[in-house]
Amino acid sequence: MDAWQKQLAAAITEPGEISARFGVDVEPLREVVARYPLRITPHYLSLIEAPGDPIWRQCIPDPQELSDHRQAPDPLNEEGLSPVPGLIHRYPDRVVLLVSNACAVYCRFCMRKRQVGCGSRNTNRAAALDYIAKTPAIRDVILSGGDPLLLSDDELADILSRLRTIPHVEMIRIGSRVPVTLPSRITSRLCRLLKRFHPLYLNTHFNHPRELTPHAAAACGRLADAGIPLGNQTVLLKGVNDDPAVMKRLMQGLLAIRVRPYYIHQLDLVRGTGHFRTGVRRGLEIMEGLRGYTSGLATPYYVIDLPGGKGKVPLLPDNGEWRGNRLLLRNYHGECIEYEDLG
Ligand SMILES: *Cc1c(COP(=O)(O)O)cnc(C)c1O
Ligand code: SF4
Repeated sequence: MDAWQKQLAAAITEPGEISARFGVDVEPLREVVARYPLRITPHYLSLIEAPGDPIWRQCIPDPQELSDHRQAPDPLNEEGLSPVPGLIHRYPDRVVLLVSNACAVYCRFCMRKRQVGCGSRNTNRAAALDYIAKTPAIRDVILSGGDPLLLSDDELADILSRLRTIPHVEMIRIGSRVPVTLPSRITSRLCRLLKRFHPLYLNTHFNHPRELTPHAAAACGRLADAGIPLGNQTVLLKGVNDDPAVMKRLMQGLLAIRVRPYYIHQLDLVRGTGHFRTGVRRGLEIMEGLRGYTSGLATPYYVIDLPGGKGKVPLLPDNGEWRGNRLLLRNYHGECIEYEDLG
């Protein structure tokens, strides 16, 4: 067994282990875990400093997960947009291929909470690859899940090789949270493997500055050294990162470990995640706290993924208005400056 497999085998999966460690009443959690599974790697668990802190909130089950009846299990209509099970085709030129149903840590706010970590899922990899091969418009394939990097090296190599035999697939992206939750998975062997399939991009998923550990930094460094451009998708979460100062530290910390912030996502309206919801105004305030105050590279897009699978829309603080052919623009200090549009 590799070190990462041992780490995964040592993950906690029972509420009793939480009570043994933190002395909290876990009875209410048993019911939650029966519906939405629990898994926390020793690495991620060690980042918890106190019950209720930003790491705790992301990984420890909460009874509120079961009382969230207003939201739908699949508000983005991923299932309706799947021409074959396990392949989401929403945009003209790119698809999401669900290759794994497991993750190193089950995030309580997961947008695929309806299925991730649950034993059965209706996917058909051969049919999905066949669909990609027969659809020349697809030039970008995003491997997602679950976490694609929980697959074995051999299985991953097999999927990537198959994709690379399709001439119109120009690029491959991997979405993975293991640099955060299981950094030992990023072995030199894995990096050598991934390197064979360039152009290959990896988007990871850090949500809080405390996740930027030396182990995570080293994992990202190994991926970057393999020539893989690294991006990050953060989810805006109440009680975790809904604060301009925290988000600024996170974005700057990501750049310091060679990861470029790509998206801040407004939380999708997914059943079981309502207790993480923040208002859109808060998200805009966070964006205002970044733009101008720190490196442009530290400023991602803030996006809402529209219900029904209608697509991602970036939101910007309202910072300009037209006066004839002049634009009145508000800078980061709040000064309004006129710009004459001579084009
Ligand atoms: C987010 C997403 C993509 C990729 O969108 P980009 O803006 O290109 O990163 C593709 N398909 C689906 C279904 C998505 O949710
Ligand atoms: S790693 Fe991603 S897919 Fe897995 S539980 Fe967390 S958010 Fe969901």
